[in-house]
Amino acid sequence: MGECVRCGRRASKAATWEGLICRTCCEKAARTYGICPGCGADRLLPGRRDGIPTCRDCSGITRDFRCARCGIEAHLLGGRLCERCTLHDRLDTLLEDGTGRVSPALIPLHHLLTDMPRAKSGLAWLRSTKVQNLLTALATGVMPLCHQAFHEHPDWRTAAHLRDLLMSCRLLPTVDKHLLHVESWLQRRLAELAGHEHLPILQRSATWHQLARLRERAARHPLTASTVPLATHEFNRAHEFLLWLARRQCPLDRLSQVDVDLWHATHKPHEHRSLRAFLTWAIRTGRAPRAGATGIRQKRASGLITGRRI
Ligand SMILES: [Zn+2]
Ligand SMILES: [Zn+2]
Ligand SMILES: [Zn+2]
Repeated sequence: MGECVRCGRRASKAATWEGLICRTCCEKAARTYGICPGCGADRLLPGRRDGIPTCRDCSGITRDFRCARCGIEAHLLGGRLCERCTLHDRLDTLLEDGTGRVSPALIPLHHLLTDMPRAKSGLAWLRSTKVQNLLTALATGVMPLCHQAFHEHPDWRTAAHLRDLLMSCRLLPTVDKHLLHVESWLQRRLAELAGHEHLPILQRSATWHQLARLRERAARHPLTASTVPLATHEFNRAHEFLLWLARRQCPLDRLSQVDVDLWHATHKPHEHRSLRAFLTWAIRTGRAPRAGATGIRQKRASGLITGRRI
């Protein structure tokens, strides 16, 4: 322990160059590049002369910063390898297909990751056990390389990031990312509702109405970030409405004006808006009584189905 000559903090010794250097300052020094004011070389400047960063030769540092494999001067990890060479080795292991080689299908992903601007970020990402398991599953064929497999993956955050990377190296077809988020969300939500009495109608509405509409829009122009919350509200509102009707022992196909009025009176305007699409779909597909039969059409001003032809 001692006081670091660069940052002034008390810390254990990681190097003794112009004095005791702490681990943080040592790592920072091994990431400082530029033209050395002493010799004019463009290289790593870990040392200090009069407080100015200088190369190891001009500052009398004996430590060798060259990677044992690629020879660049850098912050070295185990085996005296630079971060990029270490990242390369980590990926060789994680993307191995079970026969001792990188899965040929995932070579573009290997290239994408080893070429990323900051190898340190790649190594940090690969430290996650979830990421490691996902990559190994893909490499060994346990998980198929398709969007559906990513939708079904329980750890959606990890899956979503990897899916974006796979799309950017064209290993998965490019799909609007907001649309993918909605698809994954609906898939999880429907799985949670397994065995629920409302599952069939919610599944139909989600698949044939919500997703079909979003896919159509996404084909015309990119969806915005608000697509995801809007779609999830729409689904949840439909489910709440069905539960509300069930509590009142009113099946959807017997929905009456009285029910619509009561629901309207007991719910907030933004809730009316998110139910509108489901209600319109239910009427259009004959799952709720047609307009006229219940007087819903005359209820346009209620905000439930305003502004829509039904
Ligand atoms: Zn320090
Ligand atoms: Zn120099
Ligand atoms: Zn290297």
